[in-house]
Amino acid sequence: MLTRRGPKHRNKTRVALVTGGSRGIGLGIVRRLLADGYQVAFVATRPTHVKSALGVLGYSESQLCAESIDVTQEGEMAAFIDRIRARWGEITVLINNAGISPKRMDNNAPWLSQMSSDEWTRVLDVNLKGPFILMRLMAPGMIANGYGRIINIGSIAGRAVPLIAGPHYAASKAGLMGLTRAAARDLGPYGITVNCIAPGRIVSDLTGPPESAINRSALTRIPVGRFGTPEEVAHVTAFLASPLASFITGATIDITGGEFGA
Ligand code: NDP
Repeated sequence: MLTRRGPKHRNKTRVALVTGGSRGIGLGIVRRLLADGYQVAFVATRPTHVKSALGVLGYSESQLCAESIDVTQEGEMAAFIDRIRARWGEITVLINNAGISPKRMDNNAPWLSQMSSDEWTRVLDVNLKGPFILMRLMAPGMIANGYGRIINIGSIAGRAVPLIAGPHYAASKAGLMGLTRAAARDLGPYGITVNCIAPGRIVSDLTGPPESAINRSALTRIPVGRFGTPEEVAHVTAFLASPLASFITGATIDITGGEFGA
């Protein structure tokens, strides 16, 4: 029988697992957590991206490790988590960042009527089932430890009319906010917080070149008059990952330059 624990946790490890850490926002989060003194493990799908990120980051194997694993592969993720625990001890921070947003050939979002069931399923699997799998794999260890920080990277598209992303993406990110609240309810009594970050337009491979027609149009909707950076998302992630954020759980934090609600 699991017992409820207070805010003091027994295992003081600062070990973080980041999904989709090879590029964009995920790479920014990995870099920030390393700078904050965490031991960081990350996964991404493509081996060349994993290798290049490890080279760019340049940390030793005692601080940083990564493998190319798809977050939807539960068995492979479970084995990776076991390897991290054996090497560094309990993982105290989980960042569910990996996400995909397939577009049409002209870079616009696919319409509902044009979307295949397979495409719908793949986006829901990566963006929503992946975080569920990871949370379920990590929860027992965090509960035993009496401490944990889980941060899910959602999107403005899950909160407002999705102007650029497709219905599958919007549904997955709206679902992620619901999953965040449910997990926060379930895990709160054990010293574990679960929060969601909903970025607006952040410069990355996913959004493409800032000067593209779609981005120039998006810029007109952002009150601060510019796109966000992965580092700006990483700062908030690092705060939510820290013990300082102990009374924030079940929340969705918008990082949109004022676009959401504007
Ligand atoms: P990028 O496309 O730049 O990077 C995505 C990362 O996720 C890559 O490291 C990629 O790995 C990895 N990834 C993709 N699919 C999988 C998978 N199945 N298993 C493991 N890793 C995977 O995206 P961003 O950095 O822009 O986005 C990061 C998150 O932020 C996503 O969840 C996205 O939905 C969200 N977001 C982004 C916004 C933006 O404006 N950029 C706005 C709102 C939300 P690989 O390189 O190997 O393919």
